[in-house]
Amino acid sequence: MEATQVSKVTIPFIPGDGIGPEIMAAAQKVLDHTVQTAYCGSKRLNWLEFPAGKSAFEATGEWLPVETLAALKGHKVSFKGPLTTPVGGGIRSLNVFLRQELDLYVCLRQARWFKGLPSPHRNPQGIDITIFRENTEDIYIGIEYQAGTPEQRRWLESFKQSQPDDYAKLPNPEECGIGIKPVSKRGSQRLVKAALQWALDNHKQRLTLAHKGNIMKFTEGAFRTWGYELAESEFKEKTFTRRQFQEIGTSQGQDAAKAAQQQALSDCKLWVDDVIADVVFEQLITTPQQFDVIATTNLNGDYISDAAASLAGGVGISPGANINYETGTAVFEANHGSAEELAGKGVANPSSLILSGEMMLRFLGWHEAADLVRQGITETIRARKVTFDLARQIEGVQALGTQEFAQAVIDYI
Ligand code: NAD
Repeated sequence: MEATQVSKVTIPFIPGDGIGPEIMAAAQKVLDHTVQTAYCGSKRLNWLEFPAGKSAFEATGEWLPVETLAALKGHKVSFKGPLTTPVGGGIRSLNVFLRQELDLYVCLRQARWFKGLPSPHRNPQGIDITIFRENTEDIYIGIEYQAGTPEQRRWLESFKQSQPDDYAKLPNPEECGIGIKPVSKRGSQRLVKAALQWALDNHKQRLTLAHKGNIMKFTEGAFRTWGYELAESEFKEKTFTRRQFQEIGTSQGQDAAKAAQQQALSDCKLWVDDVIADVVFEQLITTPQQFDVIATTNLNGDYISDAAASLAGGVGISPGANINYETGTAVFEANHGSAEELAGKGVANPSSLILSGEMMLRFLGWHEAADLVRQGITETIRARKVTFDLARQIEGVQALGTQEFAQAVIDYI
């Protein structure tokens, strides 16, 4: 009788390497308890374990068994612990491979400060930044030629033939490593579209396009232009952009531009602007509360999301996901790596994975359970119950182990 009434969602999960299995066990325990509490048993997560990474290689000789990849593709929503990247050969990075293979074009990361968390910022209250990092292009394409190799020489030769003036700008061409940075209109716009939609759905006030378009006009600069074009066409009724503000200012004067901005604000439109990537860093240090949602290219996003995370407790507590909003395929995971040096000690912080689970529950539309997870983490930290990575930064706090912390969250819930 129960089987017909319980709504189950099957979630393939990869325990991962290093601290992965420990934080995975802790996160699953919290999520299962939360779902049970929120829905009194009428909803359930049905976990299916699949191997990947170093542990899979040691057991099966494969870094990413075909069954694992098929499960992630087939079930759409999955959960993953950190994977150790193979050194010297094989797949360049399993994580990058997975993102490209599943076309997970959004890397979604959140840096949210919880009361009680240590922060290098003097005034961290209100830091709540969501970052949409493009996840398939730019440096993730991985086209690089090492200096002095036949590939590099062939590439230089054809470049010399086709663009002699540009070739002449290269300093000591034969000593140059060459990297290619492709940024496409489709890639940029699908990322910005996801960010705009998320910002609107979550009632955010500002979306910032972060780029380095002052120097790289046709990649970073184009990202900015394509982002604005999308906001002003597909999201015309719901956004007001800095570009529109400037255009009105130029054609009708500053007062008209300010009046249009005021009107947009009172219509609750989303303010879309752009900031040069290095200025984003400066503002993250001085006034991080001004950011709501940041949409950016791959390399910028890598730096910006780690910097933002460090303001709000560090990698042990910042959640992440890799998502294709068009197909609905998504992998929710901890942002940090496998921290092999902590493995087996029972001390790692499971918060990043637990909060990735919160994101996953929201993605499934299970908002009541997601809210409970967030409350559980908030209250546990507020009660100064934290793992060693945070405890060592807070005076007079005794660190909890991985499972003890999970139990404290469950006790609250
Ligand atoms: P790391 O994130 O494993 O460790 C960086 C620092 O953070 C270390 O001091 C570590 O002890 C600490 N740390 C990380 N997670 C923690 C946690 N939950 N609780 C407390 N402290 C924590 O980064 P790394 O050492 O550069 O990478 C180790 C391996 O993980 C590498 O093979 C790397 O490629 C891989 N990696 C995987 C992913 C992923 O699977 N998404 C992400 C990053 C790195």
